[in-house]
Amino acid sequence: MNFFENRPTKDALYYFGLICSIPHPSGHEQKLAEKIISLANEHGLPARMDNAGNVRIDRPAAPGYENAPSIILQGHIDMVPKAAAGKEFDFETQPLELIEENGILRANGTTLGADDGAGAACILALLFDPEVKTGALAGLFTVQEETGLVGANNLDPEMLAGDWLLNLDAGTFHEFCIGCAGGARLSFEIPLNRTAAPAGTCYTVKLRGLKGGHSGTTIHEKRGNALILLAQFLQKMSVHALCSFNGGSADNAIPAEADAVIVTEKTPEELRNAAEQFREESAVTFNAPEEYHFEIVPAESSEKILDPVFTETFLRLAATVPNEVFDSDEELGIVKTSSNFASIHTAENLMVIHTSQRSLEDKQRQEITAGIKAHFAPLNGTATVTGEYPGWPANAETEPIKAVSEIHKQVYGNLPGVYAIHAGLETGAFAKKNPTLQIISFGPPEEDIHTEREWMDLAKFEEFNNFLRVIIEETAKQ
Ligand SMILES: [Zn+2]
Repeated sequence: MNFFENRPTKDALYYFGLICSIPHPSGHEQKLAEKIISLANEHGLPARMDNAGNVRIDRPAAPGYENAPSIILQGHIDMVPKAAAGKEFDFETQPLELIEENGILRANGTTLGADDGAGAACILALLFDPEVKTGALAGLFTVQEETGLVGANNLDPEMLAGDWLLNLDAGTFHEFCIGCAGGARLSFEIPLNRTAAPAGTCYTVKLRGLKGGHSGTTIHEKRGNALILLAQFLQKMSVHALCSFNGGSADNAIPAEADAVIVTEKTPEELRNAAEQFREESAVTFNAPEEYHFEIVPAESSEKILDPVFTETFLRLAATVPNEVFDSDEELGIVKTSSNFASIHTAENLMVIHTSQRSLEDKQRQEITAGIKAHFAPLNGTATVTGEYPGWPANAETEPIKAVSEIHKQVYGNLPGVYAIHAGLETGAFAKKNPTLQIISFGPPEEDIHTEREWMDLAKFEEFNNFLRVIIEETAKQ
């Protein structure tokens, strides 16, 4: 018997079990979306799907509640498909194998998809419960959140008609998210000219041991950037014969390693001594330098080097590019605007540089992007901005945050925490598509998300459900 089959159908856990029984990894949400539409039809509620595959269900206001704010409850219906090493599991065809033990629900060696199936289940339970007395209520179920906010970014704006949107994907209900950063990637493609290598020996200079980290959530920790430090070292050494410069991987990661191939008449000892001296001087300029070091290894001798004039300009610009927090929101205690110098890759005739900028305010981010673009302009590359996603400007004075704070105080005796994050959320796209929509983000607690250990505390899930129901009903009364 399935986990959910003997539960009452007004129970949110019934819907969570139902969701787990229909495979729904990111990009394969169609079957689940169709099931949600058929459930709506069974309950006599209109439902529609947009071209991106997102679904909206509408439930009209109960008699006497027509003047209450119309509320959209939103969650994403895709999940991260991750199985433990050695576990054979086909997320596209197999239902999740749920295990309930001591009040904890998890899946057998795979992600559980409580992120955000738990949020979606709460929405279905509320929408379909005739006893809930509320104003106009809508359920919005988005797709492909985990693979780049694809559903939200391509959402039909008509799906966002309403006064408030409560996003149920934040995994906490004693702290409420009220803002998130937007971002974009700024890239450069730079044609390279090469010339014959001078006399000397070829070495690879490897920078290793920096801490790296997520460029949104750790940029304020002032960790070393491998690209900048390596450029500073080569500049200090007056290196003009550069064959290649490589480092960094993802746009959203602070580069922890970088390599340069150089030609020099210096001996390995001279290089190592210079590297050690530079390491000591530079290690005091950033945090977490414990493992930071250089390795100097002989390389295959190169016939051609990058144009020395270009190299000088490139090293100067790479050594001085702004890579930091530009602005902070003191009240919220978070980074407002930042830029990450993410990666450099050198091929025979082309150098590709990626940077990424984030901000709670799109305008400020665009200004920083323009500044970085101007900084690298002397390299005569082609600059492009891609992967742009809008920010959700933090506002602690919206109607929903005031209402839920008051209700939280009544239920728990204290005000909830309020925060914003320096990374992208679906709510950024919603705020941009419908600027009058008042948005907050919270949700049922989900633990160890995106891992095969993901779990959910069933008592907390029930508690969240009751709290959400109180919010909806209390709001409708006012
Ligand atoms: Zn999520």
